[in-house]
Amino acid sequence: MVIGGGPGGYVAAIRGAQLGVETTLVERDAYGGTCLNHGCIPSKALISAADIAHDAKTAESMGIFADPAVDMAGMTEWKDGVVTRLTRGVESLCKSAGVNLVEGTAEFVDEETVRVAHGGEGQGSGTITFEHAVIATGSRPIEVPGFEFDGEAILSSRDALALETVPEELLVVGAGYIGMELSTVLAKLGANVTVVEMLDDVLPGYESDVAGVVRERAESLGIDFAFGEAANEWEALDDGRVRVTTVDADDEPTEYNAERCLVAVGREPVTDTLGLNAIGLDPTDDGFLATDEQARTDVEHIFAVGDVAGEPMLAHKAMAEGEVAAEAAAGEPAALDQQAIPAAVFTDPEIGTVGMTEAEADDAGFDPVVGEMPMRASGRALTLSEREGFVRLVADAETDFVLGAQIVGPEAAELIAEVGLAIEMGARLEDIAGTVHTHPTLSEAVQEAAKAAHGEAIHT
Ligand SMILES: Cc1cc2nc3c(=O)[nH]c(=O)nc-3n(C[C@H](O)[C@H](O)[C@H](O)COP(=O)(O)OP(=O)(O)OC[C@H]3O[C@@H](n4cnc5c(N)ncnc54)[C@H](O)[C@@H]3O)c2cc1C
Repeated sequence: MVIGGGPGGYVAAIRGAQLGVETTLVERDAYGGTCLNHGCIPSKALISAADIAHDAKTAESMGIFADPAVDMAGMTEWKDGVVTRLTRGVESLCKSAGVNLVEGTAEFVDEETVRVAHGGEGQGSGTITFEHAVIATGSRPIEVPGFEFDGEAILSSRDALALETVPEELLVVGAGYIGMELSTVLAKLGANVTVVEMLDDVLPGYESDVAGVVRERAESLGIDFAFGEAANEWEALDDGRVRVTTVDADDEPTEYNAERCLVAVGREPVTDTLGLNAIGLDPTDDGFLATDEQARTDVEHIFAVGDVAGEPMLAHKAMAEGEVAAEAAAGEPAALDQQAIPAAVFTDPEIGTVGMTEAEADDAGFDPVVGEMPMRASGRALTLSEREGFVRLVADAETDFVLGAQIVGPEAAELIAEVGLAIEMGARLEDIAGTVHTHPTLSEAVQEAAKAAHGEAIHT
């Protein structure tokens, strides 16, 4: 029994069915979960579309003069087409693997039974018994008190991904990755964007020089930032706009008027739909379900995967856990033993990270050696009219083992995969440095950073 059809749940269901386990997947909303319907896919679709318009408009130095008109409703329709194609794909993959699909909301009755309430009036409910269950109920956006999402004045990321028009002025609360990705898209499409953030920089959790490249580019797109301020209250103005008041650490208020306000301050796990009392399972203080290396909860035959099982709340982490849970339920000796899980931010430019930073390697007792290659020295980056950013590799000086990488620049989300593989394979810097990379590609910057760590860079 798999509860929730997002990346954690549908992967668990397909893998379970592949292994010959009789598998039922219960989904209450849409197959593909947040990722396909309201997260990764629609946001990346809009980012690509906005990039085409923006790049065309700003390519005068390449001898291109254009002023593309953007039909936001048309763009949203195209994005919805991509989403529909993928969600149908998930449904048909599940069916062809032999997964029994049930629509409704599942709630535990006891340790062997769930009740499924089917959506819609008069649809009733039924019970299903199970031997193993995988909880994959995901997460939802956190609401700032007083800023309940209404889809009009106060938007969640889900609302922002379904806009039919580009707001003239947009106030964004929160400069985490979702706030920054959506701010960038809407600024490129012509909105005047102001971002307020409680902390003192964008993208908390990323090193300051990495976040700084993204902030500076965002500023050059016209995005204004106000740091050290928290959204406090809002009111509707007579002209239909909103006035949001923030306060700083000294309780000093500042007012912002905007057409709409997007609140993107993080996400919280969804556990309240499940009737966890019936199985004696309590979330941790953070609201997550604690799991072991096989994704098992404290109840031996009940697993939890994806956002509901803790950070990092990322789709590929959910999928990896979903596979392990299904394999463990099928009696395979599976375990989560990844050395590192990559993360990407699809801002302009992108960020890709994996493994340890230099400071983390130091804290972990390594003697870190670092190699960097600036994008301005990459021929391929220049042919893309990109100069900002860098590739940084972190390795252990004693063994030369690659420990991590931070990449900020064009295609960083793709480039990071090479370093993820290096870490997983136990590769050394010399393995990356000694691998012939295609010219001219951005991936040469990864090779060059490995050489730089040995003091053998050719192009810097
Ligand atoms: C704007 C945005 C952009 C993002 N971009 C990225 C990105 O670029 N890369 C990335 O890796 N991650 C990204 N994420 C995060 C990613 O979407 C999540 O990490 C991922 O969807 C988690 O998968 P999941 O299976 O745990 O949960 P979800 O995808 O949230 O799926 C959970 C499913 O469970 C269902 N459900 C809940 N309760 C019940 C119940 N009781 N009964 C039946 N069904 C139930 C829900 O309807 C939902 O479909 C983004 C998120 C957002 C919001």
